[in-house]
Amino acid sequence: MSREDFVVKEQIKLQQARVQIAEELENLRELMQAEVDVEPDEGDAEIFEREKNAALIAVLERKLGDIDAALRSIEKGQYGTCERCGKPIEIERLEVKPDATLCLNCQQEVERLSRRNRPTRQIEW
Ligand SMILES: [Zn+2]
Repeated sequence: MSREDFVVKEQIKLQQARVQIAEELENLRELMQAEVDVEPDEGDAEIFEREKNAALIAVLERKLGDIDAALRSIEKGQYGTCERCGKPIEIERLEVKPDATLCLNCQQEVERLSRRNRPTRQIEW
């Protein structure tokens, strides 16, 4: 598959995913707004459920942001270009992680750097 075909296919997939996530978010937000009266003995379960929903909303919002960023970069013709080195990101990698902004090399490099920095940060705390 050529890179152009891949990007077109990916754009459709991202748009579909976006619609699904937006719907799910809307449902969750409605759920959070409703059911304000809590029975005293069901209180804990209810609070747990709301916290779980709030966490899920945060995850979905972040995902939606990533999808929007990927869609914007497709529109600008920059999709699939590594933000760090400017080389094309491997198609195989984009298939697994369509919102990847770094090529495999840079991703590994960034992960290695963050692992190396972690112990120093812990000592500073
Ligand atoms: Zn790179």
